Amino acid sequence: MLVSSDLKKLAVEKGMKTAHNICYGKLNDYMFTVRDINTGRALREIYISTVLTEDVKNKIHEALNSTDAVKQYKIESIELNNNFICIRFAMAMGLMKRFTPFIDWFMPIVAASGAPANVCPECGNPIQGDEVKKLLGGHAVCMHNACAQALINNVKTEEEEFKNSKSNAGKGLLGSVIFGLVSAIPWAVVYALGWFVGWLGALIGVAIVKGYTVFGGKLKKAVIPVMALLVIVCVFFAQILGDGIQLAYYISNGELYGKWSDIPEYMSLLFEDSDYIATFVRNILIGILFAGLGVWGIFKTLIKNVSSVSKTIIDLE
Ligand SMILES: [Zn+2]
Repeated sequence: MLVSSDLKKLAVEKGMKTAHNICYGKLNDYMFTVRDINTGRALREIYISTVLTEDVKNKIHEALNSTDAVKQYKIESIELNNNFICIRFAMAMGLMKRFTPFIDWFMPIVAASGAPANVCPECGNPIQGDEVKKLLGGHAVCMHNACAQALINNVKTEEEEFKNSKSNAGKGLLGSVIFGLVSAIPWAVVYALGWFVGWLGALIGVAIVKGYTVFGGKLKKAVIPVMALLVIVCVFFAQILGDGIQLAYYISNGELYGKWSDIPEYMSLLFEDSDYIATFVRNILIGILFAGLGVWGIFKTLIKNVSSVSKTIIDLE
């Protein structure tokens, strides 16, 4: 997401910069970030790097409450953390008409509440010319050079440990297979009853991922293609099982001649019918689509987490 013209204007107005898709700089001495994010909803976020004690947090809350700021400025959310303040607004037409006044009103309150401005959010000590500006999780942060290095090293060590840790993929995938096959049963039954089944693919997808973690597998990126393959196999199995149940039912009540052992032969007859094949393929494709929708969120966070966090800590200038 590129910096919008609104934020470019704000940057000029407030003597800040735009880079890395954010607007940032010193505002009232605080390291300050404004950025647009999308968490399923479009939001504009203010992020102030500081250190907050419980006392300071209470004072800020009081100021916000006493003026009914949430209603007045239509604030979406307020987060007062130990080392930052994060305030979000829902994106809307004319947002800047209350966004900028809010900043002008709020920044002096932060200072008056006793939140220190030139402070390292990592160690909480004042900054005295030994600082570096970093982009940390999408926010501009000013911290001691040594603190930044320590942070990067910590993250790197954690990443290294995760990378070298056993993924238990064997056990995990065994769980995937078991959960996947069990989750095929609802599909098969619903199909045998003659209802639409494609949406149950989502259940199969989620079950495959769940089985993996329940059996102690560590979710790593490399396992995604195997799970995708398993999804296809299980949806396929579910569909065949559904047909099997239906045929067994017809044989049992005498609508079809033969024994249950004739089911494979009946099945092969079905596959000579082009209408049947069309339905079969359609069900499978819709099932895979729904399975994909079911696990997409999980896979997405997985891919995101795997992409190195230490690389997202970058020098701002
Ligand atoms: Zn520090």
